[in-house]
Amino acid sequence: MSVFGGIEAGGTKWRCAVGTGPDDVRAAETIPTTTPAETIDRTVEFFERAGRVDAVGIGSFGPVDRDAESPTWGQITTTPKPGWAHTVVGPEIRRRLSVPVAFDTDVNAAALGEHRWGAAQGLDTFCYITVGTGIGGGGMAGGKLLHGLVHPEFGHVRIPHDLDRDPFPGVCPYHGDCWEGLASGRAIEGRWGRPATELIDEAVWELEAHYLALGLVSVIGILSPQRIILGGGVMTAPGLLKRIHRDVKDLLGGYVESPAVDQGMAGYITAPSLGSQSGVLGAIALASMDGAT
Ligand code: ZN
Repeated sequence: MSVFGGIEAGGTKWRCAVGTGPDDVRAAETIPTTTPAETIDRTVEFFERAGRVDAVGIGSFGPVDRDAESPTWGQITTTPKPGWAHTVVGPEIRRRLSVPVAFDTDVNAAALGEHRWGAAQGLDTFCYITVGTGIGGGGMAGGKLLHGLVHPEFGHVRIPHDLDRDPFPGVCPYHGDCWEGLASGRAIEGRWGRPATELIDEAVWELEAHYLALGLVSVIGILSPQRIILGGGVMTAPGLLKRIHRDVKDLLGGYVESPAVDQGMAGYITAPSLGSQSGVLGAIALASMDGAT
């Protein structure tokens, strides 16, 4: 039986694991994201200790180049994260471990993990959106992972911004008040002066739910997902998901007619079944698919 390696390469930590699925994780380690060289060295050392794998899947923070025909395949491209722009990840892991590597976005990997073992089993059109330090989204349409020109950038859609209610200009270095600019963990901390985990004011979470719902109705309007899975650190705030259900329902205004929506949003917009492991398990799933090279 084949054994796979998975790497969820995040902007603050890299989760690495070896195994075949959630019930068979044979080794795992979380490595802080420091410099590219140090982070990749520690990742390679983990896999060398963990033993042989048949392929490695990488779900990376982005933007990334995941076009297998491109000379820059496997790179993190224009990230504003200091020191990380144009970091060669996929080819470097492949060269140093001498195994085939599959490379995609962190959110597509998480979507794949939830599809194989979690909250998206049996669905063919759905999305996985993470609300953490930033906002990102991936998923499937018609049973295939969402790719396209580059890959979807859910976090950078534009949402209405009422400057009277919220004069905060937003934190996106490219757009200011895009979705990520207004509703990511970084935006919450910038607006209120403290990290999201320390904020309990009603006003904080009412505004956050409002912004998240505005983006979600755009996603629903364009992709018509059968389910939306919301992961990431910000989503662990108590009561936030319930507020989002209420606001999305209000914003849809009764227009989208489907049992999934009519029977209440709780089954339609959900937390990930695999918790914080969606990404690294999805990376293992990615490694097991054809296409690792
Ligand atoms: Zn943006």
